[in-house]
Amino acid sequence: MSYKRVELYVWWTCNQKCTYCMEFPNMERKWKRKVTKHEILKDLIKYKKKGYNHVTLLWWEPFIQEVFYDSLKIAKIMWFTTLVTTNATTLHLDAQAKKYLPLIDELILSVQWVDKDLQQKISRTNVLVHWNEVFENIKKYWKGSFIKSNIVITTDNLPHIPELVEFSHKHWITNIAVTYPDLDEEYYTKEHLLESVAPKYSQVMQYINKAVDYSYKNKLNLKVVDIPFCIFSSNKREKYIKMTDDYNYENRVKISDELYSDNTFEDKPIERTEVLPRERAQVDACNWCIYNSICWWPAKAYKNLYGYSEINKITHNTL
Ligand code: SF4
Repeated sequence: MSYKRVELYVWWTCNQKCTYCMEFPNMERKWKRKVTKHEILKDLIKYKKKGYNHVTLLWWEPFIQEVFYDSLKIAKIMWFTTLVTTNATTLHLDAQAKKYLPLIDELILSVQWVDKDLQQKISRTNVLVHWNEVFENIKKYWKGSFIKSNIVITTDNLPHIPELVEFSHKHWITNIAVTYPDLDEEYYTKEHLLESVAPKYSQVMQYINKAVDYSYKNKLNLKVVDIPFCIFSSNKREKYIKMTDDYNYENRVKISDELYSDNTFEDKPIERTEVLPRERAQVDACNWCIYNSICWWPAKAYKNLYGYSEINKITHNTL
């Protein structure tokens, strides 16, 4: 049976308010929307009939949503492989972990911090993650097939990126993504992006390089996501391009197409640009670049933050 994934947007709130979170504008728009288990059932039946066998249940922190348990149970009864991303803020609770984790096949943990101060600063709440207990519970109750750490780069955690990769690995996670944040200037303002979210692309590379070296040494599956290819140094570019995403371009677009082909759970359709790759701009240099058709280009808002002087076309002569 061929791999077919559908992403269902089924809840709209989070117990944190992370400085970099691109979902907030969408969440605010949908806060009052309540999705019932009947709607979930209806949609899963529809996608099952179309041959889908993997489902991602989204938006945003699932473990605080009333309908989450039923969603998982329904999906498992229908033989979907379930994927969930969590901030892990409730997974230290034994009862919670015991109830939910056995129903999750693919688990993605947001790991933007380890220490308390950084957690509070980035999450802008006192809702902390108790990592040691979380990992103990995962070990105890999770029986799935895939686990990954997703580390979103921010201005605040940038120097800690190699340490966060190491931290994930120390807890036996070998699938790790280090992701440049999506930038929403309209919602967050230029000042906020500069202060808390978006370091310069070129500034990021020294920490990515350390993380990549560590991952090579330890045979980790590290992804370096959403950084324009021309930012990578020329002697590492080919290697880094292979690490740039979990999905190839066609798969990402296919997921988006499915999402937009009907208005599943939607009062108002979400714009294509709001799903990956979000708010990107093809700049002049990209027109002449050999990577134009596969690179995700720089963020649109980046122009206003730092300009595009770091973005330089790559030709066969400059390889
Ligand atoms: S010039 Fe444009 S297409 Fe080429 S690597 Fe840079 S951002 Fe990507």
